[in-house]
This record gives sequence, structure tokens and C-alpha cells, in this order.
Amino acid sequence: MTLHTSYWPPERTDEGVREAAAALAAGGVVAFPTETVYGLGGDARNADAVARIFAAKGRPSDNPLIVHLASAEEAAALASSISPLERKLMERFWPGPLTLVLPVRAGAVSERVTAGLDTVAVRVPAHELARRLIAASGCPVAAPSANRSGRPSPTRAAHVLEDLAGRIDGVLDGGPTGIGVESTVVRVLGGEIHVLRPGGATAEQLREAAGEDGVVKAEPAAAKEGEAAPEAPRSPGVKYTHYAPKGDMAIVTASDPGRLREALQQAADTERARGRRVGILACDEHAGAYRADAVLGLGPRAKPERAAQALYAALRECDERGIEFILAEGYPEDGIGAALMNRMRKASGGRVIAV
Ligand code: AMP
Ligand code: MG
Repeated sequence: MTLHTSYWPPERTDEGVREAAAALAAGGVVAFPTETVYGLGGDARNADAVARIFAAKGRPSDNPLIVHLASAEEAAALASSISPLERKLMERFWPGPLTLVLPVRAGAVSERVTAGLDTVAVRVPAHELARRLIAASGCPVAAPSANRSGRPSPTRAAHVLEDLAGRIDGVLDGGPTGIGVESTVVRVLGGEIHVLRPGGATAEQLREAAGEDGVVKAEPAAAKEGEAAPEAPRSPGVKYTHYAPKGDMAIVTASDPGRLREALQQAADTERARGRRVGILACDEHAGAYRADAVLGLGPRAKPERAAQALYAALRECDERGIEFILAEGYPEDGIGAALMNRMRKASGGRVIAV
């Protein structure tokens, strides 16, 4: 079935919020900007609306969705309980890029949202348009990223249209998104904050917010074959390879920037000699010196937040330009660098060339 997909440009957001909210309230699915990436929203209580989100994206149904709220007060209606530490995190991070996995209140959202789990993932986005839309719709809004499954998350309205035009009711254009990678997903158990997925809220910020009340645990390690599942909770979605570029991808890391440039150029030359179209993702300081079929600067090396903002658009551009092999410079893993490298590793299937 092909739908008419409305497009509301930045200069018509009042009308856009009104019409998109009406569509949500009527069981439709619309894409909207958040501070992380564009989301594809539907009424979390409406099983048919949620089914339309999964269908539009081609998303596996056992991968649960994050419910977006206009304010923290609304979380009490979705969760059966909220601990003091969870409350503290909400106060510190909301509105913002932190998703909390909470025990779900029976019947509060469709089971399709939680994929039948006894928990629900919740956040309040720090984007004014998103909160206006959610408030006007009167719905808790289930919203995964607004891309076809297997494509990079959209950081511009044009990316949403590329993937989903004709499959959703509309797109609210709020310009490029600020953070560029998805939210951090955490589960609080006892006094431990388990990071199920690194993202826009950094481990350093979580540690500072938790203070003496909580210990921050990095991503739980995956169970090896034949071993029991680790005790820490796992985020169901992490088992899916998110985006894989059409070609191959590898990350190049080195302790010395000079070595990094040399090793990366060498790898690029080798692949090009084999006749493959090679793309390079690099910091601005290095980008000018590389030779390849496409060289994309991700911003200054000292500003990983710029690289996080630029990554998904750069991956899409590589696909568009027929790149068959992407070589990406690794970034230091502190601050937002952890989420940036996590998404790069996912895109490359974990392929890292360390020199
Ligand atoms: P996306 O909407 O594509 O950003 O992905 C949402 C992610 O949130 C999922 O892939 C899960 O990793 C995580 N998530 C959502 N709901 C839950 C839940 N109830 N328990 C644990 N993780 C969740
Ligand atoms: Mg996604």
C-alpha cells in the first residue's frame, strides 16, 4: 500500500505540529526530529499504529520501541514503579538523550511496544518540536529511528523521505539533528546503572549524576556460545546488526596520528589497486591529505561531537556514491566518542585495523 506522505517544512511547523498530532491521535505514523535522530512515531497504546511502525521500517517484531513523552510526570502512568535513583536520572537528564528501561505498568502500552517484555523504555526528548508534537497528540509516542531497518538512522528530514516516503503519513522537518547518534539506554537494578546501549548521554555524565547512589556499569558483555547469559540485563535490540554499508567497512586506529594517516592511506591504496571504490571518513585535519574515491571530513579531531553529528549522513553519502570499501579513522572513546565508536563498530561489523 502506498500512502500520501505529508511534508511540513521548518517554516510551517505550527501547521505541521497540528496536522501531525491529529494523525498520531488517529492511529497514523509520522516522523519528527529529536535531538538525537529523527523518530517514527505512533500512539504507543494503539496496537495497529505500532504495527504500522514495524511494517514501515521492516523492523523485526522482537525489537522493542522507546516511548517518548512530553514531560517526566507522564512516566508514572507507564511504569509500575520508579526508584529514587531512576528519579534522580530523570531529573538530571530529561529532557535529553537518556532512555530508562522501567518495569511496565500492565496495559499502559501495547505489547508490541515492549515486545512482550515486562519492561518499557521511556524518555523525554530535548527537542521543542518533538515535545510540542507529543503534547498536542495526547499520546505516549512509541518511536524508533525513522529509517528502513538496516539503513543508517536519519539525521535530516531528507533521509527520512529517502527511506520512508509512501510508507508513512508525514514528516515534520526540524532541520539537521543536534547529537546525531541515538539515546543512551540504561536499566537501573539495585544501585547499579547498566548501560545497555551507549549514546547521547555519556558515561561520565551518568557517573557524575549517580554520585554515591549508584555504580555505572558499561555495556554488558555478550554471552559466548555455550555459556549462560550474563547476569546483567541485555537490551534486546543490540543483537541486530544495525546498519551495514553496501560495501565493506573497517576502522583504523593508532596511538600516533602520523601512523594512523600512513596506515589508512596504505589500506586505501591496496583496496583501490584491487579495483574497489574506496571512501575515507576522517577528521578535518587529515581529510585534505587523503587520496580516495570519496574523502569525507567529520569535523575537527578534538570535537567528537561533530563526528557523531556527521557520521550517519556520511555513511549514506558513501552508499550513494557507490563506495565499496569505507575506511574510517577511529576516535578516542571518552565522552560522546564511546557512542560514536560503538556505531562505527556496528557499521563495520567489528572490523578494526589497529596499527
Ligand atoms: P531504536 O528505537 O532503533 O533506537 O532502538 C530502541 C532500542 O531500545 C532497542 O533496540 C533496545 O535496544 C532498547 N529497548 C527498548 N525497549 C527496551 C526494553 N524494554 N528493555 C531493554 N531495552 C529496550
Ligand atoms: Mg534504530
